[in-house]
Amino acid sequence: MTYLSGSSQYATLSTGERLSEIAQRVGETVAGRFAHDVDRDARFPAEAVDALRSEGVLSALVPVEQGGMGASISDLSDTIRLLSRHCAATGCVLAMHVEQLFMLLKFGTTPSLRRVVEELVEKQLLIANANSEVGLGGDVMRSRTALEPEGDGWRFDKQALAASFARHADLVLSTARRAPDGADTDQAVALFRAADFTLEDTTGWDTLGLRGTCSSGLHLCGHVTAENLFPVPFSEMANGGGGQLRHVLLTAVWTGLAEAAMEQAHQAVRAAARRSIGTTQQPAMRLAEIMTEVQVVRGMLADACNRIEEAIAADNLEDIDLIMALRNVKIVTSTTAVRVATAALQICGINGYRRGPDHPLERILRDACGGLIMVSNDRYLLENAQMLPVRKGI
Ligand SMILES: Cc1cc2nc3c(=O)[nH]c(=O)nc-3n(C[C@H](O)[C@H](O)[C@H](O)COP(=O)(O)OP(=O)(O)OC[C@H]3O[C@@H](n4cnc5c(N)ncnc54)[C@H](O)[C@@H]3O)c2cc1C
Repeated sequence: MTYLSGSSQYATLSTGERLSEIAQRVGETVAGRFAHDVDRDARFPAEAVDALRSEGVLSALVPVEQGGMGASISDLSDTIRLLSRHCAATGCVLAMHVEQLFMLLKFGTTPSLRRVVEELVEKQLLIANANSEVGLGGDVMRSRTALEPEGDGWRFDKQALAASFARHADLVLSTARRAPDGADTDQAVALFRAADFTLEDTTGWDTLGLRGTCSSGLHLCGHVTAENLFPVPFSEMANGGGGQLRHVLLTAVWTGLAEAAMEQAHQAVRAAARRSIGTTQQPAMRLAEIMTEVQVVRGMLADACNRIEEAIAADNLEDIDLIMALRNVKIVTSTTAVRVATAALQICGINGYRRGPDHPLERILRDACGGLIMVSNDRYLLENAQMLPVRKGI
């Protein structure tokens, strides 16, 4: 695999500028070009992910001294936002991959997991996640599946509720109880190669939106050894950054969708203005309203990136104020994306309602709905509500 991360064409750019250039170019020429097909056929955005691979973006988070780009969370969130303006499935794939890579870099401290990082940089491996489990809904902090002793390791046999792009990934991270007699909260995390496991599709993925994420239910089955296991429990990994990072990176997707919807509405307002020069039409006022909402989500995303970067630097990602604030960011931005897309539909009228390669708005609206349930906003509201009575101030 050759990629261009060391290319002289980028010599004068910062990492953020370089990623931004790549995201705009890949977004416009690849992700956007195939977005309609990806959505129509509910297929993996292979062309866009291959383009990101060839630019070294799948290892952008890895420090420079380990062969990556040393990108910050802000750099990556910007990359995801820009890609999501063209194809939210591509943005989601990158967001979920980066979250898993963050876990691998922070918690994969064993020699075998360190070697996986080297291989990921060299071959631009893609990492999926299969934590949620049939019967447990969005409660990923518990597992039914247990590691069953088998030969030199354990049998891993799990009914995953939804595992985005796992059948297109090279590596999968997945939780299970540490032992058959262990508590459902005593979870270990295994990292395995998709090629070494059987991954049987149990539900298909014929969904309202985010169809290109290919997040079908899967029956995952294979053998893991101690080399595959992270040395710390899942609770430490989730609370130590995995969950927080997911909020920020997926917020970049919801923000990109809101921007894409606003862009469609803007085009419609400009076309209407050309037809009746000198008058301000009511849709323009609605667009001005949309702008205020998009400004809010952009501001929330920027603030969330700053806060998470400060927390990474200070090693206090477990701070409860931060966790509650990031849940709020996810709730507000995902609901706003749906509201903005719906308002844009009213501006664009029947042309926004039409389907087809030249009418992306209805796809944007359907994709935005995914944000509400990935993970359920109600679940986060309840988690925050449980904290409020014991907080001295908010
Ligand atoms: C596009 C997409 C991609 C996904 N990709 C992955 C992936 O790659 N890996 C992965 O592991 N999972 C993935 N998931 C699954 C996701 O993480 C959630 O687990 C899943 O969406 C939750 O499913 P649910 O809505 O049935 O369950 P729930 O979250 O249980 O919600 C169902 C209903 O129950 C309510 N509810 C239930 N329990 C509570 C509670 N304790 N507090 C508050 N409300 C509650 C909710 O409000 C809601 O009304 C994906 C989901 C989507 C939509």
